Amino acid sequence: MLKLLKTHFGYDSFRPLQKEIIDTVLSGQDTLVLMPTGGGKSLCFQLPALALPGLALVISPLIALMKDQVDTLCANGISAALINSSITPKEQAQVMQRASAGDLKILYLAPERLGSYGFSEFLDSLNVSLIAIDEAHCISEWGHDFRPEYRNLWHLRKKLSKAPVIALTATATPRVRRDILSQLGMEQASVFVSSFNRANLHYSVRPKYQAFDQLVELLQSHKDESIIVYCFSRKNTEETAKKLTQAGLPALPYHAGLNKDVRQQTQERFIRDEVPIIVATIAFGMGIDKPDVRLVVHLDLPKTIESYYQETGRTGRDGLPGECILFYSYADRRKHEFFINQIEEPDERAQAMRKLEDMIIYCQTPACRRFCLLTYFGEDHQATTCDACDNCLNPPVEYVDATEISQKILSAVLRTGERFGMAHVCDVLRGSKKKRVIELGHHQLSVFGIAKNLPIPALREYIEGLKKLSYLQQNLGEYPTLQVTIKGKQALIKNESILLPPLTVIKKVLTRPSGTTLEYNLETFEKLRALRKQIADQQNVPPFVIFGDKTLHEMAYYLPSTLEAFSHLFGVGKQKLEAFGQQFIDCIAIQTAEQNLKEKPVPRKASLSITNSPPQTSSTLNETKELLEQKLSIKEIAKQRGLSPGTIIQHLEKLLQADELPDITHLKPKDKDFQKIQKAFNKSKNKTLTAIFKQLDEEYSYDELRLARIFL
Ligand code: ADP
Ligand code: ZN
Repeated sequence: MLKLLKTHFGYDSFRPLQKEIIDTVLSGQDTLVLMPTGGGKSLCFQLPALALPGLALVISPLIALMKDQVDTLCANGISAALINSSITPKEQAQVMQRASAGDLKILYLAPERLGSYGFSEFLDSLNVSLIAIDEAHCISEWGHDFRPEYRNLWHLRKKLSKAPVIALTATATPRVRRDILSQLGMEQASVFVSSFNRANLHYSVRPKYQAFDQLVELLQSHKDESIIVYCFSRKNTEETAKKLTQAGLPALPYHAGLNKDVRQQTQERFIRDEVPIIVATIAFGMGIDKPDVRLVVHLDLPKTIESYYQETGRTGRDGLPGECILFYSYADRRKHEFFINQIEEPDERAQAMRKLEDMIIYCQTPACRRFCLLTYFGEDHQATTCDACDNCLNPPVEYVDATEISQKILSAVLRTGERFGMAHVCDVLRGSKKKRVIELGHHQLSVFGIAKNLPIPALREYIEGLKKLSYLQQNLGEYPTLQVTIKGKQALIKNESILLPPLTVIKKVLTRPSGTTLEYNLETFEKLRALRKQIADQQNVPPFVIFGDKTLHEMAYYLPSTLEAFSHLFGVGKQKLEAFGQQFIDCIAIQTAEQNLKEKPVPRKASLSITNSPPQTSSTLNETKELLEQKLSIKEIAKQRGLSPGTIIQHLEKLLQADELPDITHLKPKDKDFQKIQKAFNKSKNKTLTAIFKQLDEEYSYDELRLARIFL
């Protein structure tokens, strides 16, 4: 199983309970899985689906989510498809045909399809290995998201009585749990309940005072990351999004009052990393499975702990740190109480009031926030502190003497002419040999390398402290350059002592219980991120389908230069290694050269077998080959096959490697273009696509370059 896990998903080990659950499913028993968001539920049916002969059916109510999951599976080389209202009848017929022909391992189905005409015969034609029911709480009227179509599922179960069922949900009170089991007639099922503790999430509550300014500062410290800001009212989401955008933080509003197309587009842009911040009412989130949301802010008080837990649960699904910040004010509490008092039914009113009180206890507790949440969900915990919430981490702050380092920083800002941003000042202080530093002659300054031993996050924190206490100021605007204020200059001249808040970096890194991040090279990470986005756009999938952030962090830390080393990275399976490995390695190579960085050995865990023998021509390559023989253009082939042109070019490359490329003279670029590209390749030292692309002033697309390279 570990081998399957690495080969198909690129992971080295199982998350808690995954292995036990998979064992149970493989033994043919029915299973119920209760696991929090981000716990890794999908793998519990995807891996058995691969291991078992036949086809696994996955029932899911969330259309947007299905597509992401299918894209992710396909990117990992697993044949998966979906049937729901988003596809045309023709596409549906194709998928059904592939399923009946045994061409698919995993088929996602919307529950309402089960009752549709002719579906029963279709099901008869399948060899079903497993039925997975995602979001299983939808079957219960007691759940918060009841779907009547889910009641059809017992039908499906009866019809396919040989296949084991695995039902999964993130939200299940004991009542809902009993309901799921009885509705599906699987009272004998093995039940797995994992802890609802999200160890990689950091919780804090702040007084709601000048909340917008606080928000801006927060968002700036999470620049370019994916963030959700929750507000109470629709109007407030729109106003806040507008003000943030004006402050240079691109944000879009989302609420149920916007028309469907706009909402869809907004979601899509968020998932594709085209807009980093969504300001939303609670209408946002269902069906959004973005693994790399890093921060969830609640500008207004949520009504219940359940909803708070669910909304904050949308951060850090990929296991990397996620931050959850709530702004609390007494006025918000009064507002909720006012609305609750309008509820006529007394029991309901009392219940709502109790839930609000629990929420307020969370906000006001001086004890561990995590403990407070888990206790609410009835979990018994030995430890009553966590080291990853505001109350555990931040006893009142005492300022410490930071005169020496402050003087160094202020001098560096002055000596470099007050014309540079934080990153460059840090480079100079740390004695970086980056091209830019050398070109500017800053390696000859007396301040060059005087803070060699301080890690960048620490330096940044000192600089932030100096900004906060007005020793430094930073221009807002396009170039956020640092300047020394009059107060700063005075302090330098008079050799005054400077007190700053103590550093939190070291503590933070040490105390993030899981999901610790590597000290990766930031610039390389940004470049890799851009490459990921470019590939994702070419293939028309969200960026996280290509590689998750954790994989990019590892790339930017270990800087692998060979496919062998690359294959040991987290999240790199066989398919992704072959499809993207070389492009990322090329990009890394440029960075290591430009920044003078050194590759580090990647720890070996589970390993992929990389063979040097030519890859076998699979059926998909053969299909492309046949169309090439009919002299179709790349575009026509892409269209006929329902693939992107980029993928077809990849097929050409693979066919070439396997020495099976037919005559493709009809695809050769025009002489003039070809010669230009050829020249660029001849001139280039490392011959990477990125280098050629730049050298030709971005005149040709990557696809055009790759095609020309095939002829070269
Ligand atoms: P859930 O459905 O429980 O909310 P997912 O199945 O979407 O969670 O998994 C959350 C994230 O964790 C995904 O990005 C998934 O790829 C990743 N993941 C799952 N299992 C593992 C594992 N064993 N090792 C590393 N990452 C994993
Ligand atoms: Zn705590």
